[in-house]
Amino acid sequence: MINIGFERIEPVPNYPDGTSAATLSGLTWSSGTNQVSSFKVGIKKALRKSQFARCCFCRRLMYHDYATHIEHFVDKGGYPAYTFEIRNLALACGTCNTNKNGYFSTWAKRFSKRYMIRGIPYNAYCPVLKNQILGNVNFPTSSAEFRWVNPYVHNYSEHIEIKKGWFFHGKTPEGKRTIRGVKLNDVGVVEKRALSERLEARGGKLSMLVGALGELEQHRARDVVEVVVAAIKRRRQ
Ligand SMILES: [Zn+2]
Repeated sequence: MINIGFERIEPVPNYPDGTSAATLSGLTWSSGTNQVSSFKVGIKKALRKSQFARCCFCRRLMYHDYATHIEHFVDKGGYPAYTFEIRNLALACGTCNTNKNGYFSTWAKRFSKRYMIRGIPYNAYCPVLKNQILGNVNFPTSSAEFRWVNPYVHNYSEHIEIKKGWFFHGKTPEGKRTIRGVKLNDVGVVEKRALSERLEARGGKLSMLVGALGELEQHRARDVVEVVVAAIKRRRQ
C-alpha cells in the first residue's frame, strides 16, 4: 500500500499571524503587498504540515519548496472572491498544478462560446463545481457540491486508490474526473517518475550515474539528465 499521508485537510488552518480575511479582501494574489506575502508564506507552512508534505492530488512527497504550489481548487480567475479563502487552498506538486491549469484553460476555451450565448459568463462555470456559483456566497463546504475530489471535504481513499507503481484507480465519478483532469495516469509522467524513483533508490552519486547510463536505452537522454540533476540537487539540500 502506498502511504497517502492524509485523507483530507483537517482541521482547516487558521489565517496566518498578522493576516485576516478582512485585511486581505479586495487584494489580488500577485499584488505583492506585505499582507499577501505573509499570507502566502504562512499558509504554505501550515498546509505543508497538514498535508504531511504531500501533494493534494497525487499524494507524492513535495521535496522542493519552489516546486510546491499553492493551488486554488476553484480557480481565482473565475472566482476572485475565493482567492484568500483557506478552504480553497491546498498544496500541489508542480506537475499536478500545471496539468490542472492546462485542463482549466482548455475547458474554458471549449465552453466560453456556448455559455456566453446563454448570457452567463463562462468563468462562472468551474469544472470542479457541480453548479456555478453566482453572486456573493460562502465557499461550498459540502462534498455534494464538488465534481472533483476536494482536499478538505472528501476522504481521498474513498475516491481514489493508488496502486503499486503509482497507477491511479478512480472508485467514484469524482475520483475518475480528478484522475483525468490532473492527468494522474499520464504515461510519460508516470515513466519519468518511476525513473526518478529508481535512480533515487541507488546509494551514491556514482551509482546513480551508472544507473542513469543503463536507462538511456529506454528513456530520452534529456529526461535522464533532468532526473539526475534534480536528484543530486535534492541530496545537497
Ligand atoms: Zn501531484
